[in-house]
Amino acid sequence: MRETAAVKGTRLLTEGRLIVVSAEPGYFAATVRGSGDVHRVAFGRGGWSCTCPARSTCSHLHAAWLIAAPTREDHQ
Ligand SMILES: [Zn+2]
Repeated sequence: MRETAAVKGTRLLTEGRLIVVSAEPGYFAATVRGSGDVHRVAFGRGGWSCTCPARSTCSHLHAAWLIAAPTREDHQ
């Protein structure tokens, strides 16, 4: 069964692969170490972004969302 991005994001977090670089009101940045590659996740004026090539919401973003929600408006 294919691991969903949300499930993988949880695993990345529990395995200690996410390192918070900066966290303050309106700004958040972290690095996430995947399988051999490191990507940078950030939240700023332009919203959330990740440096990986995934076109849809990636596991790195899901991992970040588990611990940070600076100004997300979709609290559901
Ligand atoms: Zn990513």
